[in-house]
Amino acid sequence: MALEKRLHWSAPRLVSGLRTLSGVADYRPPYRDINFVLDHLVDMDELCQLETYKHTDPETVKGVLEEYGRFVADQVGPLNRPGDEQGSVHDPSTNTVTTPAGFRDAYEQYVSAGWGAVPFPAEHGGGSFPWVMAMAMQEVITSANMAFSMAPLLTQGAIEMLLEHGSEEQKEVYVRRMVTGEWSGTMNLTEPQAGSDVGAVRTRAVKQDDGTYRVTGTKIFITFGEHDMAANIVHLVLARTPDAPPGTKGISCFVVPKFLVNDDGSLGDRNDVRCVSIEHKMGIKASPTCVMSYGEDGGAIGYLIGEENQGMRYMFTMMNNARLSVGLEGLAIA
Ligand SMILES: Cc1cc2nc3c(=O)[nH]c(=O)nc-3n(C[C@H](O)[C@H](O)[C@H](O)COP(=O)(O)OP(=O)(O)OC[C@H]3O[C@@H](n4cnc5c(N)ncnc54)[C@H](O)[C@@H]3O)c2cc1C
Repeated sequence: MALEKRLHWSAPRLVSGLRTLSGVADYRPPYRDINFVLDHLVDMDELCQLETYKHTDPETVKGVLEEYGRFVADQVGPLNRPGDEQGSVHDPSTNTVTTPAGFRDAYEQYVSAGWGAVPFPAEHGGGSFPWVMAMAMQEVITSANMAFSMAPLLTQGAIEMLLEHGSEEQKEVYVRRMVTGEWSGTMNLTEPQAGSDVGAVRTRAVKQDDGTYRVTGTKIFITFGEHDMAANIVHLVLARTPDAPPGTKGISCFVVPKFLVNDDGSLGDRNDVRCVSIEHKMGIKASPTCVMSYGEDGGAIGYLIGEENQGMRYMFTMMNNARLSVGLEGLAIA
């Protein structure tokens, strides 16, 4: 009897262990832990009393999380291992990046369900749910497939930055379609000589008579700088105007879209920005870490965010969002 019991207990564990070893480990969201945090540490009840969140309640939040968990477990998790084996591939003849099989379809489903919109204000097409809910969702997708999760991660930071510091026109043109996920966002800080020392940024931005800027320079390590999942990529780029003071006090921030946007909101000409290579990494190989070249044909068209020389301050909004998310990656992977 005792042996029978032990076998009964250990057989599923053995199967699960063998599945893990053979690489077909299923991801199941840890709802018990998540709900414990939401109930006892966050106090969702009280949070949902706040004016902004009065439209929801803890049960709805948990229901949405479960639905999201099902999507992630069924559609995104199974792409983790094959995605890492296949990796994203850069084609130097066209400067395009193709993500692994299945990524495009899963992203399309992510967009059509509106998962990326959850924490953003309703007036910009968002769900106006608490950020803590978006963080729980982020834990789930990162545990299941960290490489995939990095596209929405950068997009959400770019949205927050534009909502905080962008002009009304910039919000109108870019934010709504980034909230849906149709367009993705990137953060362009790092250059070959400017890693931790961001003040050493050399990318140049020269003002034109029409108020736009021409951006030239090289950025490295740009997560999802080029890919085939979104119709447009909105690059937020740190650059220096010709008379800018040295160091971080002389950095401005620009919106440089992959495709320019026509007055009616449709996509226009290809901007002068391309991905010239991607890093060969030890892991998260499906997330393309790109070397981006701006202005090889005379200058990429960029639009100033806020005021000149204030770019570092603005970019901290995105960097802090990314820092929170990268911290969460540690938890999710653990
Ligand atoms: C997978 C991946 C994705 C990334 N995605 C993006 C992205 O989307 N956008 C983007 O802009 N960047 C991105 N980065 C770049 C990342 O932000 C940089 O790697 C980071 O800023 C550090 O720069 P670095 O790699 O040049 O290292 P370095 O600055 O050369 O630092 C190397 C080491 O020296 C230490 N160090 C540096 N300066 C000092 C000092 N003064 N005193 C003491 N120690 C010091 C650092 O702590 C570090 O341990 C990404 C990097 C990776 C690996």
